[in-house]
Amino acid sequence: MKETILTGIRPTGNLHFGHLFGACNNWLKLQEKDYEFYLEIADVQALTDHFHEPEMVRRNVYELTTDILSIGIDPNKVHIFIQSTIPEIAELTVFYSNLVTMARLYRNPTVKTEIAQKKAIFGNDGESVTYGFVGYPVSQAADITSFKGSLIPVGEDQLPLIEQTREIVRKFNSIYGNILVEPKHFISKTARIKGLDGNEKMGKSLGNAIYLKDDEETITKKIMGAVTDPNKIKKDDKANPDICMVYYYHKLIENKNIETVCKECKNGERGCVACKKELINNMLEFLKPIHEKRQYYLEHQDEVKKVLEKGNSVAQKKAKETMAEIKKSMQINY
Ligand code: SF4
Repeated sequence: MKETILTGIRPTGNLHFGHLFGACNNWLKLQEKDYEFYLEIADVQALTDHFHEPEMVRRNVYELTTDILSIGIDPNKVHIFIQSTIPEIAELTVFYSNLVTMARLYRNPTVKTEIAQKKAIFGNDGESVTYGFVGYPVSQAADITSFKGSLIPVGEDQLPLIEQTREIVRKFNSIYGNILVEPKHFISKTARIKGLDGNEKMGKSLGNAIYLKDDEETITKKIMGAVTDPNKIKKDDKANPDICMVYYYHKLIENKNIETVCKECKNGERGCVACKKELINNMLEFLKPIHEKRQYYLEHQDEVKKVLEKGNSVAQKKAKETMAEIKKSMQINY
């Protein structure tokens, strides 16, 4: 039997370079293998943090799907679906909530870290942390098991969430019979892409990202503001390309002249403005096929909606089948 892959992304913004060279890179490889592949647009999970911004989440469901199709995810190989169209996930979350203690949820390192971050932002003792937020590992277990996900691509920081799912599956199976599949993880070997400001992480909240949807003007502005070697003031100053984000991006998008860039930078034979302009041109060339596809899907939003309808329908069928087995085993199949 085919392994089932379940992965997801929250619709809270567009795809950026961090995604493209990270999770998306894996999706593109995995779709070429013989897996049953579900890609969840996790709108309900997005609402755990953004419950007060429903318009933003809804808009981003379509924006993100447009981006996903633009990078080459093939809807004939991947079931792209919206989490909220699968009521079984919410139902399972309730069933699973009896199988996990509050203490265990608070001990989950991923939850712990995020709660600490919230406390740091809101400066209180955790009053801003909602029940839904603490419980999201439970809803993630429901996501995975609704589709009998057996192989879950994750980053190292998400391993505790998968372990939580395994615990819930084991507990469920020990009480109700061997119905659920205990998922295996596989660590996606992805580079963490640095931001234009030199930050180790690229992110929306950090304002240091290049988005796949960025147009020429936006890209020009962002790259012209990128962090370079601060000791290089004049064109003929010798500099260190290894601490320059312009050089970093030249390398990332595989500039064929990378050795020349490096040599000229070190020898003080290259000005930063010219170097940035070269990057802008290469970046636009690199993004051209994505931009073209994106433009097509922007003009054909009906196709984007059809992709989601098809994905929703496949996911609904699978989740219904799983739920029928679960309810039977729990003796609530009235
Ligand atoms: Fe960076 Fe290019 Fe300036 Fe060197 S010349 S510091 S690589 S922008």
